[in-house]
Amino acid sequence: MKIRDVQFVKSAVKPDQYPEYTVPEIAFAGRSNVGKSSMINTLIQRKDLVKTSSRPGCTQLINFFLINDDLSFVDLPGYGYAKVSKKIRAAWQPMVETYLSNRPNLLGLVLIIDIRRDPQEEERNLAQWLISNHMPFLVVLTKADKLSKTQQQKRAAAISSQMNRNTSEVILFSAKTRVGREIILDEIANLITW
Ligand code: GDP
Repeated sequence: MKIRDVQFVKSAVKPDQYPEYTVPEIAFAGRSNVGKSSMINTLIQRKDLVKTSSRPGCTQLINFFLINDDLSFVDLPGYGYAKVSKKIRAAWQPMVETYLSNRPNLLGLVLIIDIRRDPQEEERNLAQWLISNHMPFLVVLTKADKLSKTQQQKRAAAISSQMNRNTSEVILFSAKTRVGREIILDEIANLITW
């Protein structure tokens, strides 16, 4: 898949604020600071269209981007940042669940995990919810450049078993080296033509 054009469309909190378009949509979710903004920027080849988090966990908005006029990327708010207030943390789940349950053109989700960290309750819950609701998702392990090749394989095996996936089903990614970019775009193309 070639990315020719990208536009920021809008930020939203609730369904009546979501863009009205019905093009296929792919959402990106991950813990705050996991590297979600860096990943989306790498995929769309823009340096900083998606704001990298200077204050992790503070942006509790759903951001919509239109790609090539026929695909939508959605940057979901990061979760699990310890320093945000309980109120912000409590708002995350209903906002994201409402989005996931009320977006007919949503065709899949990219679940981003730091390759060095074990999946936590939030990742496992989200994966379980997606499976129960028949929503396809990719598991992407980011910041792969921080580990050696051998460690990358070990971590991929450990995380995939914790997420009940085959090792071949998790994708290694780095915003620094851009490894994994083409694979993710191909997998996204598969999700939207399903
Ligand atoms: P977000 O909160 O999930 O959007 O995370 P950001 O994209 O803002 O990244 C958080 C921090 O991790 C920043 O300091 C990034 O430079 C760094 N980072 C993100 N992706 C990578 C990566 O693939 N490799 C390395 N080495 N650092 C990364």
